[in-house]
Amino acid sequence: MALNNIKSNINQLRRHARQVPIGKVTIGGNNPIAVQSMTRTKTSDIETTVDQIIGLQKAGCDIVRVAVPDESAARALTSIKRQIDIPLVADIHFDPQLALLAIEAGADKIRINPGTFTKTSMLTKIITQAKEKNIPIRIGVNSGSIERDLLKKYGKPCAAALVESMLRHLAAFEKLSFENLVLSLKASDVNMTIEAYQAIAAKTDYPLHLGITESGTSRMGIIKSAIGIGALLQQGIGDTIRVSLTDAPVVEVQTAIDILRALNLRREGLNLVSCPGCGRQQADILKIVHAFEQMTEPPPKPITVAIMGCEVNGPGEAREADVGIAFGRRKAVLFRNGSVLRTIPEESILDELRCEIRRFCE
Ligand code: SF4
Repeated sequence: MALNNIKSNINQLRRHARQVPIGKVTIGGNNPIAVQSMTRTKTSDIETTVDQIIGLQKAGCDIVRVAVPDESAARALTSIKRQIDIPLVADIHFDPQLALLAIEAGADKIRINPGTFTKTSMLTKIITQAKEKNIPIRIGVNSGSIERDLLKKYGKPCAAALVESMLRHLAAFEKLSFENLVLSLKASDVNMTIEAYQAIAAKTDYPLHLGITESGTSRMGIIKSAIGIGALLQQGIGDTIRVSLTDAPVVEVQTAIDILRALNLRREGLNLVSCPGCGRQQADILKIVHAFEQMTEPPPKPITVAIMGCEVNGPGEAREADVGIAFGRRKAVLFRNGSVLRTIPEESILDELRCEIRRFCE
């Protein structure tokens, strides 16, 4: 294959899932990949839950999910929904009655794992009510709650067991003519998750909600999520994503947005290109980049800024950026849109860089 035929255009590769509206956000088709998170509050504590959701929305969350472990949580949904401006998803386990209450209370979508339901006969009621209200259901299977018979068959949780569990639930929904569905097959193991989503993506056209479940604290959780979610998105698989971290939910949203930005699936804010520095650096690149990050407000439009430590890769990267600098001895060359603007003395480098970013954004 000629090298110039190698293109990494994720949008061309994107699997065309059927479109499913969740409140005012539609996922699937060619719609942007939606970012989700989940609150950590007691859902029945309406005020705290609404505060957290508003914080998530400000951070860029498109769809929010809340746990509905009891009746008071289900009943709180009506008031919560009235006070927020993003679609609200109710997360239900074990008790199908709570799904009925959540739908009644106005949830924009419900997430269930039918494998955790003790009374499977209730599924018909849930589907009937979801049809009446025209709200979608996410079937979320999880490596931690695979049915016993499948665990026996496969010996342990694995991608094939997740897929078989999902296909089994899907058949039950489709038998009742319900196809307003979103699917997820999460595991805490990155490889298992990727394999499961690849398999289900080839078998159905339902939109997929991606995530690595229980991925741990930020350091490793971000890496697992970036690899797992990122690998699938790069293959054109996935319509909405949730990063699960043992951390503040805002960090989940920021990480999810950064994964999308790293794959050029979202272009917003500051994209900083900076070199790690080495024995050739002509300035203390670490100190300069940290100072730059602290001094710089989030830009009003997408911009790529390069800060490079010397003339080896510096001019090349700075030329590729919207605005960039490449350090020389006690000075730096300032670039904009691929052209050299001027040489700046060491003492005013950061000020001039920030001015140029402002001008670019105007
Ligand atoms: Fe080192 Fe220069 Fe490369 Fe930066 S750009 S890592 S200073 S060689």
